[in-house]
Amino acid sequence: MDTRAFKRSLNSSENYHRKGFGHEADVSDQMQSEYQSNLVQQIRSNNFTIQRGDVTIRLAEAFGFCWGVERAVAMAYETRQHFPTEQIWITNEIIHNPSVNQRLREMNVNFISVTNGEKDFSGVDPGDVVILPAFGASVQEMQFLNERGCTIVDTTCPWVSKVWTTVEKHKKVDYTSIIHGKYNHEETVATSSFAGKYLIVLNMKEAEYVVNYILHGGDRAEFMTKFERACSVGFDPDRDLERVGIANQTTMLKGETEQLAKLFERTMMRKYGPDQLNQHFLSFNTICDATQERQDAMFELVEEPLDLMIVVGGYNSSNTTHLQEIATERGIPSYHIDSADRIGPDNRIEHKPLKRDLEVAEDWLPVGPVVVGITSGASTPDKIVEDVLEKIFELKAIVPVT
Ligand code: SF4
Repeated sequence: MDTRAFKRSLNSSENYHRKGFGHEADVSDQMQSEYQSNLVQQIRSNNFTIQRGDVTIRLAEAFGFCWGVERAVAMAYETRQHFPTEQIWITNEIIHNPSVNQRLREMNVNFISVTNGEKDFSGVDPGDVVILPAFGASVQEMQFLNERGCTIVDTTCPWVSKVWTTVEKHKKVDYTSIIHGKYNHEETVATSSFAGKYLIVLNMKEAEYVVNYILHGGDRAEFMTKFERACSVGFDPDRDLERVGIANQTTMLKGETEQLAKLFERTMMRKYGPDQLNQHFLSFNTICDATQERQDAMFELVEEPLDLMIVVGGYNSSNTTHLQEIATERGIPSYHIDSADRIGPDNRIEHKPLKRDLEVAEDWLPVGPVVVGITSGASTPDKIVEDVLEKIFELKAIVPVT
């Protein structure tokens, strides 16, 4: 399929919207009252610190709602206003945050159900309005919705679209896109749908395996089993790794994407010689600014003498998980929670350790003075961070300042 031609024709369709509908002012007031926090604002302007009683809170200097997420949520709100009576759907979660998604449900926005990775579009009728989330949708989904006669409101973040453009460039010159990401993450599913040949590589360990194959060959069957769900149809490692371009899921760890790109660059240089590098390797910077800023702020925060960290964000949010990874790697006790409700009244916290299911920790908040670092993922409204802070103050029996 010529994805560029399809996108061009979609762009010119009157049933396709990539901008708001002129209700920005109303929506901005509504979002302000639902998601902003005076307390968090106060901490921001107080050098990202607050002390109450025994508790010192240190906020990361960049955290929470990113530009792309805020824009997507605002567009979803505007869509409801603009189409007050139409049936509205979201192809998945608008962003990876349970409370924002719940708020949209209350506004009578339907979510397409997903079973075993398959979306059920059977309830979507011609004339319905379908919102595509911040992390995008696959080209096949867009095509399907377009053919069904739906109005499409596309909130895909421009940073994600930039990656799509990158893999389309690889496709045009017949390079294989090496996508640093999780093969089953919606953003990577969408990105790979715009690519020609592709291979999705999760981490440096997988990247080392691939470059070793490029340099020395190996067991083809083993390679194909390993990347069974992470490569394009008909992919052949003996044929399709001669020319590669790098792309990424925008929320991966920045340092790891850079390392991975360097590894492939060195490998192609070693195999084909420096003067042939440009015929075998392509790389464009596709790491989004917001991800970069939040990760950099986290690296700074974990340098401070913290007793513990709280990372707030959806459990399926990739950028939040990476923030948690940074704290855990520094050996700081770190609790990833998706809402303040995870903090119980009797000094218990239900949290998600890296790569494990939810666990309950008892007596997690120490007696006496404590310094707590806090950050939140790009899909987390400040209001949720405020709720978490209030829970901590409550547990330490600190009377709120009125
Ligand atoms: S994290 Fe980056 S790519 Fe993702 S929505 Fe936010 S700004 Fe866009």
